[in-house]
Amino acid sequence: MTLGNLRIRLRSIEQRSRPEPPELKTALERRWREIPEAIRTPNQFLGRRVTGCEGTHGVFPRCNLACTPCYHSKDSNRVRIDAEHTVREVDSQMQLANEIRGPGQAAQLIGGEVTLLGPEAHARSLQTMINQGRKPMSMTHGDFNYEYLEKLALDPATGKPRFSHLSFAGHFDMTMHGRKGIRKVKKESDLNPYRKNFCEMFKTLEIEHGVTSFLAHNMTVTPGNIDQIPGVIRACRSMGFRLFSFQPAAFVGSEARWKEKYGEMKDDLIWERIQEGAGGQLHPGAIQWGDPRCNRTAYGGFTGERYWTLFDEKDQRDVRMRDLFLSSVGGIDFTVSRRLLVAKLLRAALREPRALAAAVPFLLRLSARMGGLVRILRSRPVAVTFVMHSFMDAAVVRPAWEAMEKGQVSEDSEVRAAQERLQGCMYGMAHPEEGRMVPACVQHSVLDPEENVALARLLPLAGPASDA
Ligand code: SF4
Repeated sequence: MTLGNLRIRLRSIEQRSRPEPPELKTALERRWREIPEAIRTPNQFLGRRVTGCEGTHGVFPRCNLACTPCYHSKDSNRVRIDAEHTVREVDSQMQLANEIRGPGQAAQLIGGEVTLLGPEAHARSLQTMINQGRKPMSMTHGDFNYEYLEKLALDPATGKPRFSHLSFAGHFDMTMHGRKGIRKVKKESDLNPYRKNFCEMFKTLEIEHGVTSFLAHNMTVTPGNIDQIPGVIRACRSMGFRLFSFQPAAFVGSEARWKEKYGEMKDDLIWERIQEGAGGQLHPGAIQWGDPRCNRTAYGGFTGERYWTLFDEKDQRDVRMRDLFLSSVGGIDFTVSRRLLVAKLLRAALREPRALAAAVPFLLRLSARMGGLVRILRSRPVAVTFVMHSFMDAAVVRPAWEAMEKGQVSEDSEVRAAQERLQGCMYGMAHPEEGRMVPACVQHSVLDPEENVALARLLPLAGPASDA
């Protein structure tokens, strides 16, 4: 190897082993400056570990189930599926997300129902997102079969996996109507066989083709199913879901689908039910994504039936470990190869050498919470995250956004609170035509109606179907 080649090689190793790429570092710093000061707290993830979560919009607005409520505007079902439109729009939205938010961020391939795309178009969309530096997750109602999943995962030319890993979020709850094989869902437990089947398909995919997966469970919460949350968690926590996300229903989207008095549900009450289902104390104060009025997240897991938390928010030693973790690890991508991860972690440790010393006692405390060595050896601990994401009502988002667009701070306390939440939003959607990201609340409450009217003209149902 010549001296020149050696230099190039060393430079490449130095760049690849940085904890985070420079573009992400810049994006994280910018994000930290952008979010309101009130949420720049020591537990804040935004701007330190992640720049946010992203979602696509207007790329396949249709859905073949009916939910009450549904966050999509009434015209979304008048837009036909068009694979070329989908891939083109996904590409342009994700390119902008990459420019603004930096590489390696989680992005949801969301519509509409993603499996109305044929497996080829779905695969092309995922690959497009990966090419734009995103970590894609397909958002689905889960009403599809193994044949579809296999076609999505495998290259039709070679029959070999085209993805080594897939992330899916399955939306299952009794507010959804039209699922195959079940005309009327009377209670949440009626859906358990469908939840199980969803997880089983991915297990089969791994056994037969070696394609691993990350599965999330989404559930809209209404006064009609709030008390069934503990039962859903208990019945489903061993099925294979690694994340349970609960969305309190909000008055947003199609008014014809608003059926209950959603405002009567309080977030604290929903969180109590989630905790009841987990069967142990959740610690949402340890890590915060964006504004606490929007999100609660509890990292932890189960060893058998025993729930454990990753960080104990009341234990000052854990709080210090969390702080050291955030300042050392930064935006490191934990999904890179093992060898590269070790190199990145070593360099991260140099940023905060005290993290290494604190990690040993922390791991001892964590293993005690998991039930001790014997229990850990007998029953492998599994990480499970609980999330509550509370979208806002369109009635408050619209005036909040209109005022923000004029650079005004509302004098109405409720609208001002919405403005603060929008400024600290962790779930954004890219608008390449304007060169900016907008909060998903704004997308669904303000922009979707007009966007879908325009799409219905561009892609009328009467046109040639193209889902591949
Ligand atoms: S989408 Fe809405 S509810 Fe969610 S984080 Fe953003 S502002 Fe908050």
